[in-house]
Amino acid sequence: MVPGPGRFIRSRIEAWSFVFLLVFVGLVAALFYLQVFRGPHYRRVADRLHHRTWVLTAPRGTIFDRNGLPLALTVDAGSIFGDPSEIRDKQAAAASLAPILNLSPGRVEECLARRGRFAWLLRRADDDVVTRVKALKIKGIGVTGEQKRVYPMGVLAADTVGFVTANHGGAAGIEEALQRVLAGHDGRVWGEVDARGRIIPGQRRVEQPPTAGRDVVLTLDSRLQEIAETCLDEAITRWKAAAGTVLVMEPHTGEILALANRPTFDPNDYRAYPAQRCVNRAVTFAYEPGSTFKIVAISAALEEGLYKPHDHVVYCRASLPVGRRVIHCVTHGHGGHGDVDVTKLIVKSCNIGAATVGFRLGPQRLHRYLRKFGFGVKPDLGLSGQSAGSVPPADTWRDITLANIAFGQSVSVTPAQLLAAYCAIANDGVRPHPHLVKRIEGGAGQPEQEIDLPGSRVISPETARAVRKMLCGVVEKGTGTAAQIEGYQVAGKTGTAQKALPGRGFTGGKFIGSFVGFVPADNPKLAMIVILDEPSGAHYGAVVAAPTWCEVAKRSLAYLGIPPTQVAKAVQAAP
Ligand SMILES: [Zn+2]
Repeated sequence: MVPGPGRFIRSRIEAWSFVFLLVFVGLVAALFYLQVFRGPHYRRVADRLHHRTWVLTAPRGTIFDRNGLPLALTVDAGSIFGDPSEIRDKQAAAASLAPILNLSPGRVEECLARRGRFAWLLRRADDDVVTRVKALKIKGIGVTGEQKRVYPMGVLAADTVGFVTANHGGAAGIEEALQRVLAGHDGRVWGEVDARGRIIPGQRRVEQPPTAGRDVVLTLDSRLQEIAETCLDEAITRWKAAAGTVLVMEPHTGEILALANRPTFDPNDYRAYPAQRCVNRAVTFAYEPGSTFKIVAISAALEEGLYKPHDHVVYCRASLPVGRRVIHCVTHGHGGHGDVDVTKLIVKSCNIGAATVGFRLGPQRLHRYLRKFGFGVKPDLGLSGQSAGSVPPADTWRDITLANIAFGQSVSVTPAQLLAAYCAIANDGVRPHPHLVKRIEGGAGQPEQEIDLPGSRVISPETARAVRKMLCGVVEKGTGTAAQIEGYQVAGKTGTAQKALPGRGFTGGKFIGSFVGFVPADNPKLAMIVILDEPSGAHYGAVVAAPTWCEVAKRSLAYLGIPPTQVAKAVQAAP
């Protein structure tokens, strides 16, 4: 039987129905796949096209000096950008912008020739630059608000305050050491954009508000800092020195009142200086201290009951053989120091006396006092990159090492370490904890944090007072007469050291001259160290550093209103 036309049509309909069913099932499956499995992906793609998130930079905390004067603060500044797609004549635009932005026309044109719709031309520009750029009214050139870190005092205390790089990271000084405290936490803002990538007005919401950074109050006093820097500049010029440091401390609390280093840099323009200028020499520069170090062996010997201040130590003939080496005293061709007691040892700075005391102490005992005074240990001032200096282990000392260390050779110390040791003498035997941060203000859910660090006892009050008296003798009639101040009793010590370079030993003709001490001696208010690195024309600490110390002290005492404690008398000029 031949099939009728009806049956043929039915079979065709069934076939097409099957095809449509397959297509329908396929479409449903595809939709299901796109919406359910790939849905989140496409939603993200669409979000990227229509929405954007921006970072809301948290305002950075301010750094103040102890009197509330800002040393580093954040201000709003305009940043200039271009939309390359909107600028028709890039060459003409670059020619008008380049002189205002202080860039070459080629550089500006290069920025404007980039692909995409956004290119920075100058970030955190000065106000007058922003005004002049706006006045040009170039289509496609815009200004947006950003934050800028400024240092209103310029170079003042630059190596302590530090600086912040373009992406807001603290890169030196307190800015680096307290980055997490100062920076706070950035926030996020969400916005809807049109087809050209511009934000739609009203379609913007803050997803996470920024948390402001906390303010930091330093122990520095800007006026004392200025005095220290001015006097240091004068000394560097006078002695054509390669570098120098003046450090001023409150001897009871360890608060650093001034910290001046040269060479230095301007944090507002840090890119213009080599990186080694941005280091803080007061805490990173470890040098061989020379005679200023003698107080350690003498304090140890008095504390251990080996000597009393007027006990005979040695008859100094200017040189003394130790093993195969000979140690010398600098006595200017007048033979030796003759009969030397403990006091004369310090007042006249007798190396052979110090070596003799060192021998009697022995390596273990002297080493113990070095550590107690804080040598060979990082002082933790609140800055990064601090040096611990170097103190060799006691079991490696030969006789010559012991002698050398007793008069300040074969060890290295930082200015901050040495000054803290003198503060122990000023502070009746308690070495204060030197520090630079006085207070971290409250904020971000954190309470105010007052920094009060306890000191540690190094020697008894009796030993400290005995050494203090010897240090007064240094200034009254010894090597430090250039540090005399009319009406005030000064306690201090000179130091002169030949400069040793790592791996190269002593370098001929290069010296470090220093003076360290405190005033007024009977009730110390200021402890200070002055160091001149590679002075020319003279190199003794007594000549190059003591007069600068005296000048910083005089001006600082006057500023702080510390009255004279002695009846004024004629001060003899230093020889
Ligand atoms: Zn001597």
